[in-house]
Amino acid sequence: MKIQELESLLQIKNIRPTAMRLLVLEVLNSRRTAISLSELEIVLENSDRVTLFRTLKTFQEKGLVHSIDDGTGSPKFALCEEGCECIIERDLHVHFHCRQCGDTLCLPKYKIPEINLPTNFQGEEANLVVKGVCGNCRV
Ligand SMILES: [Zn+2]
Ligand SMILES: [Zn+2]
Ligand SMILES: [Zn+2]
Repeated sequence: MKIQELESLLQIKNIRPTAMRLLVLEVLNSRRTAISLSELEIVLENSDRVTLFRTLKTFQEKGLVHSIDDGTGSPKFALCEEGCECIIERDLHVHFHCRQCGDTLCLPKYKIPEINLPTNFQGEEANLVVKGVCGNCRV
């Protein structure tokens, strides 16, 4: 993806493009799988952890990325699809965690089924992670 395209991805979400944000976005965009802060730190070895963390948090607050609790103890981050607002009933999809390669990936075509909460309950987050062996590891 060209730098202009990355910039416009940020601008659509009202995020001011800075060099660091573009760098992080480029990494997220180039990967098929979700990434943890520690992995991001390894890829961008010259960046400091606090800055990377803040960048991810900004992206999350603005709805550019979502975080995934895959049960490994470190949250993973992945880019949202176009038009995603991270609304439970509409946008949230299933994630898959492969116990063999350790990858966690988005399955955007598989939405979280609608859950009818008890009266007066207000859901704010939902996480559905299927664990198993991914297609790459099964061949
Ligand atoms: Zn989202
Ligand atoms: Zn795998
Ligand atoms: Zn996802």
